[in-house]
Formats: sequence, C-alpha cells, structure tokens
Amino acid sequence: MTSNNPQTRAWQDLSRDHHLAPFSDFKQLSVKGPRIITHAKGVYLWDSEGHQILDGMAGLWCVAIGYGRDELADAASKQMRELPYYNLFFQTAHPPVLELAKVISEIAPEGMNHVFFTGSGSEGNDTMLRMVRHYWAIKGQPNKKVIISRKNGYHGSTVAGASLGGMTYMHEQGDLPIPGIVHIPQPYWFAEGGEMSPEEFGVWAANQLEEKILELGVDNVGAFIAEPIQGAGGVIVPPDSYWPRIKEILAKYDILFVADEVICGFGRTGEWFGSDFYGLKPHMMTIAKGLTSGYIPMGGLIVRDEVVAVLNEGGDFNHGFTYSGHPVAAAVALENIRILREEKIIERVHNETAPYLQKRLRELNDHPLVGEVRGVGLLGAIELVKDKATRARYEGKGVGMICRQFCFDNGLIMRAVGDTMIIAPPLVISKTEIDELVAKARKCLDLTLSALQG
Ligand SMILES: *Cc1c(COP(=O)(O)O)cnc(C)c1O
Repeated sequence: MTSNNPQTRAWQDLSRDHHLAPFSDFKQLSVKGPRIITHAKGVYLWDSEGHQILDGMAGLWCVAIGYGRDELADAASKQMRELPYYNLFFQTAHPPVLELAKVISEIAPEGMNHVFFTGSGSEGNDTMLRMVRHYWAIKGQPNKKVIISRKNGYHGSTVAGASLGGMTYMHEQGDLPIPGIVHIPQPYWFAEGGEMSPEEFGVWAANQLEEKILELGVDNVGAFIAEPIQGAGGVIVPPDSYWPRIKEILAKYDILFVADEVICGFGRTGEWFGSDFYGLKPHMMTIAKGLTSGYIPMGGLIVRDEVVAVLNEGGDFNHGFTYSGHPVAAAVALENIRILREEKIIERVHNETAPYLQKRLRELNDHPLVGEVRGVGLLGAIELVKDKATRARYEGKGVGMICRQFCFDNGLIMRAVGDTMIIAPPLVISKTEIDELVAKARKCLDLTLSALQG
C-alpha cells in the first residue's frame, strides 16, 4: 500500500505520475507505490520509512565491494574534474581506459588481453554478436552466423540481449528472438531433470549443444554463449558433468565460445571469473555489474588474443558507443578492482565466507518448504516445494512472491524467480552478517509456510 509517511508518499506520487520502471507492471506499481531506498552502507540499505534492510542481492548482483566506499566517489570526482568525457572513436584514447584495459587483462584468464568497453552487459552482448559475425566474415566464412544460446539464460534486455537470452516472457513482447539465434535446453536438474540423476542429466543437457551444432551444420554456427552459472534464471548451478562435456564438444567443433561473466565475473564464485572456477577457455567474456560494483554503469567484452589477431586483419569494426570506455566509469572500475585486489576480498570469499555461507544455507534443507539448497561462492538458491521427494511445487500459489514479501517486511532482500529464492550478497559480507541473513531467511520460510497452511 502507499505510505502514510508524507515524504514517502510524495516520492510514490512522483513515481506514479512520471516514472516508468524497468521490468515492472506500471499500473500495479502506480497503485502499490515503490519502496524508496534512500541510502546504504556496507551490506545494508535504508528505506524512506527508516527500515534497515540486509541486501542479499548486492543491488542487482553488482555491489561487490559493498555500499558507501568513498574511494570510488573520490576517483569519480577527480576524473570528472580532470577529463569528464572524451570519445575513443577517431583514433584517440585517454589514460583511464588504457589503464583499465591493462588491469583487466592481468586478472582475466591467460591469453585474454584485450577489452572492448560498453555501457552495460546488454551492450557487451550486442557487441559480441556483431564481433562474432565480423570475425567469421574476415575468415571467409560469413555463413557462420548463428549463435547458440540456452533457454532461461539471461543476456540482457536490448534487442540482441533479449534474443540471446532464453526468457520466453521477454521474447513474447516485441517479436523476439531476432533471426540467427537458437536456444537449447538448460542444465536445470531440479526443475527439468525428471527421473535422471543429476550427472546423467548434465551430460544429456550438454549433448544438446552437439545435436544443435549438427542439426544446423557447423558451417552455419558462429558461437555458443552461456553463463557459467545462470543468474537471473534462478542461480542454476549445472550438474558436475555439464561443463566437462561441453568442453569436449567445444574442442571438437570450430565455433567460438562466449562466457557471459556479467554475474560470475569479479569474484562472485570465489575466483576472478566463473570461467576460472570451471576451467573454461572462452574466446570472449562479457562483463559488467561487478566491474564497477555498480557505482557507475560500465560493461565490456574481453577478447582472446587469437580472435584479436583475426579482427586486426578486418579493417574497421563499425560498432561502438558514445560512452564506450567512459573515463569516469573507467576511473571508478580501476578503483573498484584495486580494492578487490588490495583488500584480498576474493581470497576471503574463496577461503572463508563462501564455504561458510554455503554450509549455513544448506542447514535450511531441513525446512518443510525447502526442496533443494544449492550454490557456489556467494551465490545461493533455495527451491520452495510442496513435496520434497517428488520436487512438486505449490502450483499457482505464487509461493516465491509470498516469501519475497515476507523477506522485504523483515529486513532482508532475497529475490524470487518463480518459486526459487535466490541470493547474491555483496562480496564483503561478514560471517556475522551471513548468520543474520540465514536467520532471517529461515524466519521468512516459516512465515511463508504458515501463510500457505493458514
Ligand atoms: C545483468 C546481466 C546482463 C545485462 O546487463 P545490463 O547491464 O543489465 O545490460 C547480461 N548478462 C547477464 C548474465 C546478466 O546477469
């Protein structure tokens, strides 16, 4: 309901009268009114009603180093005074973008030493699509156009991003996907594994890639894109057999592999990239989110040396954005990566907080509503079910949304994807804060169960 607090009320009126929010039901939001977030520090947010909320989603998977780091504000302010903007189009460059490209190549997997910058992850994937096709055209194989992607993957919300993604509710609006993008099944054992064991299902799901390549003809396939762990689809950690089988298939066919690292990148798994975690060898990696900890928009595409060698023979790449490599965003990203490195934040996730979060989260397995707890690094998912043994859902009850609302009301942000509750807290979360997160999650599961029974 809209608030009784006059200040909150005034902001909610502005929302209804003037603002169109992303991924929202405009009409419903205008009646209900958004929650107004006014400030944040560390892993906590505060709303305009004075509630303190533990941000179990790091904003939208992005606030790696936590809220309120003055160093990033200072880096932005200094860069704005020195050189607030200049473009990179006409054979010019500026120090922050060059330094950032260098630093990223230091932390990226071996042999990935060049970066094309964009304003977002979606733009990174648009860039990928055009670069893949350009690459094959330079190599004299212009028919290798098709990009294979996965159902329920998420690759952004531009026309190419939404097409690459496998979200049917996005495809339904605006006549997507665009031609030249096809989707194979996802490695989501809990929902789709049926009678197969997770290991069998992982191999089956990976084999779908080979079948699709053969069906289309390898001469028509440019690339395969995948998130190492699907984020927006519901923190889908593939069975252990999945990536090894995919690697065998990729080794067999001459196509490019693109890892969408927008969520997994910059420490989320306890390694710098999800590709490091799974030992993948991508030709390109899409980045955004954790790159700047969300303090300012920036994305990009990290490209393997062999691919760059081919692109170097192709003349102009007729693609780019006004804000590609924006100097202020680059300065903020540099400071963010400096903090991640110097404070050994990813090492701490790897050695301490990720094992602790994963252990504590799995304690929720004893709850009657919980069908599975899974996760890697500081990513976690809790499947809500009616029957643990058969993995049957409470059909049509919107259990995830009920639970999400209880979380909100009890000072925890946990997101619902259908009946899957997901978390991805800031990488700086402490063990005590993890205890608070898990305690609140349990309380909200209890409240959800009572609501279903009442
Ligand atoms: C968020 C996300 C994107 C899109 O990034 P935007 O900055 O929102 O355009 C792409 N891929 C993945 C895996 C994401 O999670």
